[in-house]
Amino acid sequence: KAFLERIEATDDRVNAFITVVEESALQEAEEADRRIAAGQAELLTGIPMALKDIFNAEGVLTTCASKILANYVSPYDATAVAKLREQGAVILGKLNMDEFAMGSSNENSAFGPVKNPWRLAAVPGGSSGGSAAAVAARQAAGTLGTDTGGSIRQPASHCGVVGLKPTYGRVSRYGVIAYASSLDQVGPLARDVEDCALLLQAVAGYDPADSTSVDTPVPDYLASLRDGVRGLKIGLPKEYFIEGLDPEVKQALESAIAAYRELGAEIVEVSLPHTDYAVACYYLIATAEASSNLARYDGVRYGVRSDEAQGLIDMYMKTRAAGFGDEVKRRIMLGTYALSSGYYDAYYLKAQKVRTLIRQDFLDAFAKVDVILTPVAPTAAFKLGEKVNDPLQMYLSDIFTIPVNLAGTCAMSLPCGLTDAGLPIGLQLIGKPFDEATILRAGHAFE
Ligand code: GLN
Repeated sequence: KAFLERIEATDDRVNAFITVVEESALQEAEEADRRIAAGQAELLTGIPMALKDIFNAEGVLTTCASKILANYVSPYDATAVAKLREQGAVILGKLNMDEFAMGSSNENSAFGPVKNPWRLAAVPGGSSGGSAAAVAARQAAGTLGTDTGGSIRQPASHCGVVGLKPTYGRVSRYGVIAYASSLDQVGPLARDVEDCALLLQAVAGYDPADSTSVDTPVPDYLASLRDGVRGLKIGLPKEYFIEGLDPEVKQALESAIAAYRELGAEIVEVSLPHTDYAVACYYLIATAEASSNLARYDGVRYGVRSDEAQGLIDMYMKTRAAGFGDEVKRRIMLGTYALSSGYYDAYYLKAQKVRTLIRQDFLDAFAKVDVILTPVAPTAAFKLGEKVNDPLQMYLSDIFTIPVNLAGTCAMSLPCGLTDAGLPIGLQLIGKPFDEATILRAGHAFE
């Protein structure tokens, strides 16, 4: 009830929620009370959670913040959602986001932009802007987001909360609306590292319904959380501490590095030599996969259909013209171009080769260090409207988060300071594949 009241009191300003499911949330809370009284509590019994509107949840509107799915009610739960329910979580509703998870500012939503709770004139980051803002505004105890190129970590950083992108394959993508399938990964956002560890515990694990989910044991993330960082080797990639980095961000990072030194970690310089190619590589692979994934929105199988059309092709065209927003159309065009015959080798295939080099950079660095420490974003949250008309500038906000998705490994964003203007700054800890436990432990030591 307290969280529902908080949503009611704040969401006309923050705009984090697309759907609030008050009735079922109260029923689930009553059921949780019963289970707790009966001594049958699970990991998340009674914990009020909310979901990025990219997760299918049975009987609930699932829009992906797009007009094309404005009337789509899902007939089933995504695996991650089913797992939250199994652990007793109370689902409060569905969260605003950039349409089809394409964006870095949450301004690409058909439901209007999300505002940063720290400063309503600033963006919350994207694409899981609602997931980060809801935690920051205390509208939910934790949320789920997805991260294809930074969409959990960058908004977590801009909203002063903790966000974790697990290793590709760690959490099932079944029932999560696809953006770029070889990069998409589900992860938690929460107030602190321990809450993130709990949420990861609940959703991680092999799922036969997702062919890319990996059948490897899930450790007890809480067991090692308090083990500290003495002797841990932390790498600083020299390509990430560059000119364009905002001086306040740089300073906050330097204090964090000093704090780690004091806690007994060993700080080592490393190199990720192909970093420069990551953004270009990502925007070829992500748009190519998106153009293919979004072909399914044809006005027949899901969502809204244009009723002005005459004939089948006209119906496809009118439905897609009216249903998709500008950024989604831009990505479909870029991706279709990159995949078209005659260009495939020059763009998509080349990008896949570059991706392998980027992954190898990380594996080489992880032969020397346990964790890599970097900024999350080059600046703190920018103003609403500041970058909407400059897609290239917008794409560059993900320069420090994108390489992790290309490499397929795990990373976490956690608060490490404030700018003079009072906006949060984030720190990124990147871990070895499937070694979420070590970044959680290192994050907890810093907190
Ligand atoms: N901002 C990046 C993009 O627009 C990342 C999005 C994401 O991680 N879903 O593609």
